[in-house]
Amino acid sequence: MFKALVMEKSGETAVPVLREVDEAGLPPGNVTVAVEYSTLNYKDGLCMGPAGGGLVKVWPHIPGVDMAGTVEASEDPRYKPGDKVLLGGWRVGEIWWGGFAQKARVKADWLVPLPHGLTTRQAMAVGTAGLTSMLAVMALEDHGLTPSKGEVLVTGAAGGVGSTAVAILARLGYQVAAVTGRPETEGYLRDLGATRIIPRADLAETVKRPLEAETWAGCIDAVGGPMLARVLGQMKYGASVAAVGLAGGAGLPASVIPFLLRGVNLLGIDSVMCPYEMRVKAWARIVTDLPHDKLDAMVEPATLADLPALGPAILKGEVKGRVVIDVN
Ligand code: NDP
Repeated sequence: MFKALVMEKSGETAVPVLREVDEAGLPPGNVTVAVEYSTLNYKDGLCMGPAGGGLVKVWPHIPGVDMAGTVEASEDPRYKPGDKVLLGGWRVGEIWWGGFAQKARVKADWLVPLPHGLTTRQAMAVGTAGLTSMLAVMALEDHGLTPSKGEVLVTGAAGGVGSTAVAILARLGYQVAAVTGRPETEGYLRDLGATRIIPRADLAETVKRPLEAETWAGCIDAVGGPMLARVLGQMKYGASVAAVGLAGGAGLPASVIPFLLRGVNLLGIDSVMCPYEMRVKAWARIVTDLPHDKLDAMVEPATLADLPALGPAILKGEVKGRVVIDVN
């Protein structure tokens, strides 16, 4: 038996229940992982919602997009008992049982060996949010971004993706402008390396003029919606925006003018189906480019019992930085 946060169907709704689960009930897979830490992502909030956020289709369900731990048993030659591993994405925690449990059975193809230089706890402080930020930074670099080009904007800055993006960019020598709707996080964001704080309200209005002053050399956008549309019109000539999230809406009420007159690029970032080789590359960059002291400063420790309250909180934008779940 192992302990897990299980979403149980109760009438028309699904409710989180902390309970023991029989190991015999684990889904098929070729590697069994003794989970040590998980974390909380926006998507976990959705999966813990009453209808599983429309992502979960089968109950009972164990959410948790991310996990890190030790291989307990493996039928795959790439992994053996005792190996430290991490997993994020591949729709684990949505259509497959996830990391909010002391045990998980998964496919070896989804695993990444724990990078040298990180503990399982640090890996979950990074989690999918941090991996996604690193993928966004790499995409911007591939499109020519360097610190000499100017200020880089990060939206949803006090959230998980935003916090890790600010810390990585600052470490790489960028001037980072952080957009936040929570003025009380200014000190936190400056400690992570933000050089300018932009109130969310400054970018909240819908697009009125398709082109505004050329301001940003790059952007990592966790918000989407009207804010992303505004940002597109403020990008410097030839600059790129990495579109990561939709915390402010899935729509894009924008004009194509920034693409046509300023050669602005909109780069899509996906961590879920990201191929193995790129994951390994991104995790290696995380080890060197995400300072450990900044990472530690982002962490809010929690347990499985805290999750039922944390799920709604992240959906309301009330979670700061990175929640690390000690599942034991
Ligand atoms: P968080 O909730 O931790 O962060 C989101 C932040 O966005 C909040 O902290 C808040 O920042 C800001 N925000 C929230 N609501 C609004 C709003 N209505 N308008 C403007 N800003 C808002 O979530 P994550 O960092 O984990 O995820 C961020 C987004 O990225 C989510 O949409 C998530 O689904 C997506 N994502 C995508 C991935 C991919 O592979 N593409 C992977 C991981 C996440 P502040 O308080 O500073 O204003």
